[in-house]
Amino acid sequence: MKNYLFLVVFICYVSVLEAQEKPHSHASSRKIEFPDIDGFKTLVSDFHQHTVFSDGNVWPSIRVQEALRDGLDVISMTEHLEYLPHKNDIPHKDRNRAHDIALKEAENHDLIVVRGSEITRSMPPGHSNAIFIDDANKLLIDNPMSVFKEAKNQGAFVFWNHPNWIAQVEDGVAKLTKMHKKLLKNDLLHGIEVVNDKTYSDEALQIALDNDLTIIGASDIHGLIDWAFEIPKGGHRPVTLVFAKEKTESSVKEALFEKRTVVYFNDLLIGRKEYLIPLINASLNVIEAKYIEKSTVLSVTIKNDSDVDYLLKNLSKFTFHNHSDIVTLKSHESTTINIKTIEKLSTLDISFKVLNGILAPKINPDISFKINIDGF
Ligand code: ZN
Repeated sequence: MKNYLFLVVFICYVSVLEAQEKPHSHASSRKIEFPDIDGFKTLVSDFHQHTVFSDGNVWPSIRVQEALRDGLDVISMTEHLEYLPHKNDIPHKDRNRAHDIALKEAENHDLIVVRGSEITRSMPPGHSNAIFIDDANKLLIDNPMSVFKEAKNQGAFVFWNHPNWIAQVEDGVAKLTKMHKKLLKNDLLHGIEVVNDKTYSDEALQIALDNDLTIIGASDIHGLIDWAFEIPKGGHRPVTLVFAKEKTESSVKEALFEKRTVVYFNDLLIGRKEYLIPLINASLNVIEAKYIEKSTVLSVTIKNDSDVDYLLKNLSKFTFHNHSDIVTLKSHESTTINIKTIEKLSTLDISFKVLNGILAPKINPDISFKINIDGF
């Protein structure tokens, strides 16, 4: 009996130890984390959100609290200017209220709240967000072109929302209309949502690349972030990673106009080469490279300091001892790849295609590691 008790205690002790030694797992922290890149801070942003001040279901303070839990750096309340289904219960004349309440809630936190509004029209031009505006009330104008001009007068950054929305384009294929071309020509449109809520659009990405527009991804949340994006199961809202010189409102605005963004959506990273490749490189670091004793099998350990699991395809001539040519580098974990180099090398260049990175429709980025092997 005594021995049995001892065994139970011992087993419990071992399981406590094991639990403590488990590596940090993504599911345990909902904060969205990506490393900075050379010269820029990586700021996590959601520029498309609703509250009861238009057709959302929560008070603006909840949006701020959700953002703080998600580790966001920048948010915007973007209430519909032309659609206020709660106006009988929550009458308000001032279209800046949602922003002002959110700003007050964020007061003692490290969270930037930028003033925004959603210009809500049928197609064309559909819906667009104007952010970094001064006064939402002044955007209450009938003529759609005049609204965009007023937004520009206020110095706004304007992006086309969900251009793939099947309620407005039944085939779900984003395409530029005559009116959008006019907006572009007059510098009244600066970005496009390639990701909105749970949708991704290859065509919107192509429009961004063809027309020099900023690539945006946003939640367009109306209910609760936790329910919509299944946070308890390890999910996350879609966000725009903004590469800003500093964590200030003006720096974020500058970065958006300069198109320094990558969108993080489910397991995907979508962005221009000049920002997506540095982000992947900053995320992945070789922490050890040594030959397995009495062999020419090189053991390389790569640490992933980002929230995304990278799905890599081997592009080198070597085959692996513990993987096929497809390797997953799990978020916030270290992964060891055993490489059969045939001869003992002192350095090795190895490259991969990043299958869950998107530079353009059907185009994934290539990355490479220059490895110095320990013991040489
Ligand atoms: Zn919206």
